Amino acid sequence: MVGGFEKLFLVGCGTCATECKTGGEDEVKAFKSKLENYGKKITGYIVVESVCDQRLTRLDLKRNIVNVEGADAILVLACGTATQTVAELSGKITIPACNTQFIGTIERIGRYHERCRACGDCVLYETGGICPIARCGKSLLNGPCGGQAKGKCEVGGWKNDCAWILIYNRLRDEGRLDLYRKYRPPKDYSQMTSAREVVFR
Ligand code: SF4
Ligand code: SF4
Repeated sequence: MVGGFEKLFLVGCGTCATECKTGGEDEVKAFKSKLENYGKKITGYIVVESVCDQRLTRLDLKRNIVNVEGADAILVLACGTATQTVAELSGKITIPACNTQFIGTIERIGRYHERCRACGDCVLYETGGICPIARCGKSLLNGPCGGQAKGKCEVGGWKNDCAWILIYNRLRDEGRLDLYRKYRPPKDYSQMTSAREVVFR
């Protein structure tokens, strides 16, 4: 993607991308050296506290306007939301340096687990705080299916726990197995079919 561009400006993120070691200060500097070794000119870089926060990104881009304007394109070492935020605010050609995979939780640096797919219709109260959309291999709402054995899921080669066994165990421990037996109708996925916005006031 950077092939056709001589001059690049780099954007890193001080939040998730720093935690994930994909786009914190260290990774941005390492990427800068690597690109320079390939003969690219880096006009500058910033590591915004949270690139998804337009207010912070707008300010940091403004402070670096000369270097931003001097670049042919901007390379963003953070998530897809960050890349789109930079594209919108800068008006420049913007390149994603990362393949964003999921909304997750951090077990330790280097190990992350998907926990939510932002479906817009949360059922966690009924499922013992375990998401069947993100954690069940088939996103079933009334599992488990016939593809579980000894608590493991056939999807992904038996390495993941069956989400519905986890849900059963949790609800049993909470004394709420009535929720396990409750039938859940097909989910209204129209909630997640197009770009969404949240407006509080
Ligand atoms: S049900 Fe799962 S995917 Fe939907 S909002 Fe809740 S945690 Fe996220
Ligand atoms: S085995 Fe469990 S986690 Fe896997 S698809 Fe079936 S219900 Fe979902």
